[in-house]
Amino acid sequence: MRLEGQRESDNVEDRRAMGPQTAMAGGSVLTLVIVLVGMFFGVDPRLIMGFMQQAGPPPGAQAGPLPGQPGGPAPINDEGSKFVKIILAETEDVWSELFADMGKTYKQPILVIFSESTSSACGTGESAMGPFYCPGDQKVYIDLAFYDELAKKYNAPGDFAQAYVIAHEVGHHVQNLLGTSREVQRARQQASQKEGNRLSVKMELQADFLAGVWAHHAQRTKGILEEGDIEKGIRAASAIGDDTLQRRGQGYVVPDSFTHGTSEQRVKWFLKGFKTGRIGDGDTFNTPDL
Ligand SMILES: [Zn+2]
Repeated sequence: MRLEGQRESDNVEDRRAMGPQTAMAGGSVLTLVIVLVGMFFGVDPRLIMGFMQQAGPPPGAQAGPLPGQPGGPAPINDEGSKFVKIILAETEDVWSELFADMGKTYKQPILVIFSESTSSACGTGESAMGPFYCPGDQKVYIDLAFYDELAKKYNAPGDFAQAYVIAHEVGHHVQNLLGTSREVQRARQQASQKEGNRLSVKMELQADFLAGVWAHHAQRTKGILEEGDIEKGIRAASAIGDDTLQRRGQGYVVPDSFTHGTSEQRVKWFLKGFKTGRIGDGDTFNTPDL
């Protein structure tokens, strides 16, 4: 990617210097939300639910001042956080413009960089869950160690693969601002498990689509992409499809249990967004055979 000289976002909260935090915040509804929309990387919801039920506030756990605030630790200004700040700024620029085109105001999300675990309005965020978005506090959470995993375990290295991960989570924020998340959550409450999973797949594929829409406009306005970048994004989208993950994990595939979509679907929707750049083309909910 071509990112030299690009603006860095001020909306990044670097909690790494604070170490792991396990304090619980928020209630069971939010726990559910995190299970529904938070798992970008195919973690079994039961594992997360189980963990959330066990996790209570540890004795004496109290969030201190944030890094950069008076009395708090200094933020770590490394290459990883610089990259995240630039990509987040790119999403802010694109989405502010696209929201303005719709006559709406884009409320910028906060991106939290954490190490191992951290508290959120959706409960304790754990590195093992992968990056996630919490609608309750409108923050994206990421442990940068995930990028190593993406490169080594999922064989999807490269800066655009990493940018895609952020753009996907920001896509969930866009869904939240547009009211889609709330509608889906309401529909899920009356749906069977199978139907609920289908809704979750549609939600995830739309976030992939929105990541593509972002890439389209970031390229159009600033030319951030280099040869091979889209392929890196495709490799990331494909590596983390439910079918691929299930095949790796258990050796076979059970489509009804998908919550994120197959590798092929994820790539397809990402590319669709990248090609058209139009939000209206990403109505995964009214696409019959999904
Ligand atoms: Zn997602």
